[in-house]
Amino acid sequence: MSNRTLAILKPDCVKKNLIGNVIGKITDAGFKIKAVRMTKLTKDSAEGFYEVHRERTFFNDLVKYMTSGPCVPIALEKENAVEDFRLLIGATDPAKAAEGTIRKLYAESIEQNIVHGSDSDENAAKEISHFFSKKELLENYPK
Ligand code: ADP
Ligand code: MG
Repeated sequence: MSNRTLAILKPDCVKKNLIGNVIGKITDAGFKIKAVRMTKLTKDSAEGFYEVHRERTFFNDLVKYMTSGPCVPIALEKENAVEDFRLLIGATDPAKAAEGTIRKLYAESIEQNIVHGSDSDENAAKEISHFFSKKELLENYPK
């Protein structure tokens, strides 16, 4: 499992027409796309995905943002995927993100930060199954 992570190109990424730029950065960094689709999250789905943040002050705004337009979930594969992807996207707050990271390059604010990346192998597995069926995953991760 430790070779998988879930990315989401968030609604601001789609609205700013940056899908191609961001996917280019991801594949240039050596990640393989195993499953991808465009979808508009429902309130229930966004709340479920971000359940761990339910008590945070920003939770309602986060759900509004994530349901404001289509997003692009992507299941990725690479050795050390979770850690390497977090390094590629940079800190949650783009003002604090390292030079050259996706959030530093493209994000506007700590909320509208272009891209999601899983934070652990356990959450990567859960998050991938939030968007992709068992059948798709068996087909796309043959072992
Ligand atoms: P990350 O996406 O870097 O793992 P978190 O899991 O802490 O960050 O937060 C989830 C998402 O919630 C962030 O990517 C961002 O869109 C939003 N968010 C986080 N912190 C804040 C905040 N202080 N104010 C507004 N939105 C926030
Ligand atoms: Mg997180």
